[in-house]
Amino acid sequence: MLTKVLSNICGGIMIKKNEEYITKIQSFTNEGFGVAKIDGFAVFVPYSVVDDEVRVKILSVKKTYAYGKILGIITPSKHRTNAPCPHFGKCGGCSLLHIDYNYQKELKKQFVHDSFTRIGGFLDIKIEDTTGMDEPDFYRNKAVFPVGEADGKAQIGMYAPRSHRVVPIEECFIQNKVSVEVMKIVKEWIEKYNIPVYNEENHTGLIRHVFTRIGDNTKELMVSIVVNGKKIKHSDKLVQMLASADLSPYCLVSVMQNINTKKGNVILGDESVCLYGREYIHDSIGDLKFQISNGAFYQVNPKITKLLYEKALELCDLKGDETVFDLYCGIGTISLFLAKHAKKVIGVEIVPQAVEDAKANAKLNNIENVQFYTGEAENVVPKLYEEGIKADVVVVDPPRKGCDRKLLDTIVKMNPQKIVYVSCDSATLARDAKILSEHGFYPEKVFPFDQFPHTAHVECVVLMSRVDK
Ligand code: SAH
Repeated sequence: MLTKVLSNICGGIMIKKNEEYITKIQSFTNEGFGVAKIDGFAVFVPYSVVDDEVRVKILSVKKTYAYGKILGIITPSKHRTNAPCPHFGKCGGCSLLHIDYNYQKELKKQFVHDSFTRIGGFLDIKIEDTTGMDEPDFYRNKAVFPVGEADGKAQIGMYAPRSHRVVPIEECFIQNKVSVEVMKIVKEWIEKYNIPVYNEENHTGLIRHVFTRIGDNTKELMVSIVVNGKKIKHSDKLVQMLASADLSPYCLVSVMQNINTKKGNVILGDESVCLYGREYIHDSIGDLKFQISNGAFYQVNPKITKLLYEKALELCDLKGDETVFDLYCGIGTISLFLAKHAKKVIGVEIVPQAVEDAKANAKLNNIENVQFYTGEAENVVPKLYEEGIKADVVVVDPPRKGCDRKLLDTIVKMNPQKIVYVSCDSATLARDAKILSEHGFYPEKVFPFDQFPHTAHVECVVLMSRVDK
């Protein structure tokens, strides 16, 4: 007991749970929390912003830091803006909606700088300004709404922050409005036909998630219902309700039932059944057209994606005689963007359905100098290298956990002219950049992109150039 109390004493005062303090927010973490220092003790405060003077209540105290919540704002920061969403703070979707958009972009540049200096050790790194959106609301082309139950009633919405309690929502400032419309129709169907919703604790019930996917340019819409079971009663009624709704300017081209009977947080199961229309939507980016299945990855912010891919292409600086590897290639979007400017592009992707899409997309665009492999990049690339297949330019675009060490080692051995690293997590990006820099590649240019406005996430494209010794 005594050690516990002593460990919470810092600078002479004792931070106590449930106590209230008046304090000023001094900095901001890349998880989206403001940080106050109460006599030297770090207190993380969600939904605050640098320079806010706030009254906080301490919610929990750890050894070296505490969490607090805002009870009242005494003097607002000049970066504070009115969050327009009625669910802000209750739903875990946005953590920066209360922050002026220009300052959000500055913060993201700073997050990337912090990662490169603190994790990567690149003390003199220059980070470019964040490329953002002119209108940063309603941008997401994919929604995943969890379905749950409260007081015996079905709820669809978003999870509360750091929990799996479903907060019902009426509107959302980051989702395309049509996704919220679809969610409401599904809720009506569940209520009208008494469809059992999923109970995560007992692993019982049926409807787990409502998943939408939109082609921003083609206006095609897919709705997937993720179900803990093979059969859903009245699925024909759901299709009828969706098909007869006014979802304009979007056009419903696909209703899918995805079967996920496993426990855990993974949203989609391996099996899908088409209830209406076809099994994919189309979208276009620039002059390329893509087929996208529900199980395949597709970037969520169409306006920023185009700029991101254009930057990746510019940094590759292809002359036309290169073999390019596009690792973690998804449905082959970057591969096809690069193919017109290279001799050959080889894409590697772990999800079979995405690789099928990638192959179909090459055909759809009459592109022949691409080849796709299914498998883990860290296993496929070493095999290709052993067979004597090497890349002049390597593009990687891994998930948040970054690149596997075995893959980085093989890329180093291959010694390409350059590596273009596309990343959605600046911490793992900086970790991998450090490894590559120890083997002759330096992060020469770092471009943050605001792929996820109003949230603390940031996308980056980095040119890692070979430092010839
Ligand atoms: N470049 C694509 C996809 C990027 S998302 C685009 O811009 O759309 C990352 C992709 O990596 C996903 O498609 C995911 O399925 C895939 N992936 C995850 N782990 C992988 C691994 N070990 N090897 C290859 N692909 C992997």
